[in-house]
Amino acid sequence: MELNKVAIIGMGPSGITAAIYLKRSGITPVCFEQNDIGGKLNILKEIENYPGYIGDGKGLSEKFIEQIKHFDIDVKKEAVQSINKNPDNTFTIKTDAGSYLFQAVIIATGIREKPFKVPGSEAYFENGISRCAECDANFHKNRPVAVIGNSQEAIKDTIYLASICSPVYLINSTSEYKANQEEVEKLKALSNVTIYNPYKIVGSSGQRLISKLVIENVETKEQKTLDVEGLFIFLGATPMTEFLGYMDILDEKGNIAVDEHMKTRVDGLFAIGDIRNAVLRQVITAVSDGGVAAVSARNYLNSLKK
Ligand SMILES: Cc1cc2nc3c(=O)[nH]c(=O)nc-3n(C[C@H](O)[C@H](O)[C@H](O)COP(=O)(O)OP(=O)(O)OC[C@H]3O[C@@H](n4cnc5c(N)ncnc54)[C@H](O)[C@@H]3O)c2cc1C
Repeated sequence: MELNKVAIIGMGPSGITAAIYLKRSGITPVCFEQNDIGGKLNILKEIENYPGYIGDGKGLSEKFIEQIKHFDIDVKKEAVQSINKNPDNTFTIKTDAGSYLFQAVIIATGIREKPFKVPGSEAYFENGISRCAECDANFHKNRPVAVIGNSQEAIKDTIYLASICSPVYLINSTSEYKANQEEVEKLKALSNVTIYNPYKIVGSSGQRLISKLVIENVETKEQKTLDVEGLFIFLGATPMTEFLGYMDILDEKGNIAVDEHMKTRVDGLFAIGDIRNAVLRQVITAVSDGGVAAVSARNYLNSLKK
């Protein structure tokens, strides 16, 4: 089997950036994408917090694609099914179309938000439904929003939302929190936050945006209607790591653990973007990771020559 230099798995913002950096430094990466190039950008209605760009995700994705075409970067439309490190330190990647051998691999496969269908609405990410406080809180400045979720991240994001939106209704279907008590107490102390516990959403309505939520007490079945302008769903996400098998590179949350050079615990294996142990999951951090990993992978290839 031919030995290639670098594989990039996933062509979202992070993988695309790594590919551009590598190609411009004289290393042609082999890029794999199981779906559309551009990754999650393709489904985002608005891109916020990305300097120099105002518009929808598809538009930004098209600009990224234009750039990889400009640099003649080829993308194989194949799904990676497994990755193994060989005794000679190379990596074998198996896809739904074949097997390949590499000196280094960059994983950029992103995360998949846990699906949740709001009763009464067809939308998952639009019409006032959001998965990202950092991206969308500002749309609802001083306006009422609801939140579902009870994890540590959900509680932290709700506290952040309450600093911009008002009032904020937290709907928790159980009476418990998967968050530390200190954080929960901080949230409870906020005067513009009302917690509905244990409640679930049973209906919604609205013209363009969701404007009413019907919630029901899980125990008593008592119903209430909340006037809102947005709904934030913080139910967590699954990292796209199935193909790693038993490779021991994940942290306790299931994300790939890397250092500041984007190196995993396995030499020659790097991870970038949403899939890694990131503090912030945005386009800007994904592209930053891509640049760093490309330089790290190049340095790694150079170290093999010594
Ligand atoms: C609702 C929502 C709104 C958002 N709004 C914003 C915003 O306004 N501003 C902002 O900066 N960020 C926003 N984000 C976050 C942003 O979309 C992500 O941080 C960014 O897309 C991460 O890029 P990535 O390259 O890590 O992964 P992704 O964009 O998820 O790309 C990963 C790619 O890997 C591919 N892949 C996965 N597994 C395999 C495999 N086995 N084989 C081959 N290919 C594979 C996938 O098909 C996908 O194309 C939003 C996210 C959500 C969910």
